[in-house]
Amino acid sequence: MNNRFDGKVVLITGAGSGLGQASALQIAKEGAKLALVDLNAASLEETKAKVLEVAPDAEILLITANVADEKAVENYVNETVAKFGKIDSFFNNAGIEGKQDLTEDFGLDEFQKVVSVNLNGVFYGLKHVLKVMREQGFGSVVNTASVGGIRGVGNQSGYAASKHGVVGLTRNSGIEYGQYGVSIKAIAPGAIMTPMVEGSLKQIDADNWEEVGKQFVEPNPMKRFGKPEEVGYLVAFLLSDQANFINATVIPIDGGQSYKY
Ligand code: NAD
Repeated sequence: MNNRFDGKVVLITGAGSGLGQASALQIAKEGAKLALVDLNAASLEETKAKVLEVAPDAEILLITANVADEKAVENYVNETVAKFGKIDSFFNNAGIEGKQDLTEDFGLDEFQKVVSVNLNGVFYGLKHVLKVMREQGFGSVVNTASVGGIRGVGNQSGYAASKHGVVGLTRNSGIEYGQYGVSIKAIAPGAIMTPMVEGSLKQIDADNWEEVGKQFVEPNPMKRFGKPEEVGYLVAFLLSDQANFINATVIPIDGGQSYKY
């Protein structure tokens, strides 16, 4: 078994579900102390219980916070440092899809809601965590973008704007902080079967969403959805010291689909 995270402190947002939860499980198995952040307190407790099944000795701090609120972000960073003394790695991951609609019908309220979580939330996370990492002189960050952040998908104005923005923030901050021993990368997942994607398929057809899902993955070279644990393996690698020289770049994990759009 790998122990790439022995003695390391890893902070994860959106840890109550999906990609954040799967990454927490993988990283905990490898010895990390975890600070887990989510809007949903009950889902954080669920993640904690799952982590303790695979890593019974794991030290875990749960923080209920809205990443779209800068004060709450500053607070989750301070709480993590107060408890563990440092932040080795940060998975800046919480996000929402928002409604699917044509650009002309995509309301400003919806646009601003999606951007406030997916883009402002990632920016606030970078702002407050990078200060800590620069002062420490080490650290790694993975921001969650999307194939919708590197390609046009359609019907996702808020999501597309926010996820392209996440790629931009990654490139910008990676250039700034490499000199301080901090690497910053983004991942661009394709369709990974999490509660968010289930919700997205239900927006298309609530009664036949599983059938819609089968059609949805037909154009994928691998003809399937990705699994959250497959993203967890990638995130664990990217946050580990093995990936320190990967910086200011975005890595797709989508079965090859983004090269077909
Ligand atoms: P998910 O809905 O399963 O999990 C997201 C978690 O984030 C939830 O626990 C939710 O409570 C939390 N969250 C939402 N808004 C929050 C807020 N304002 N503050 C704090 N926590 C908040 O979704 P997921 O599929 O695991 O998505 C995780 C990330 O991956 C998102 O940024 C999403 O855009 C991105 N992504 C997912 C896919 C996919 O196919 N699943 C593809 C590309 C990108």
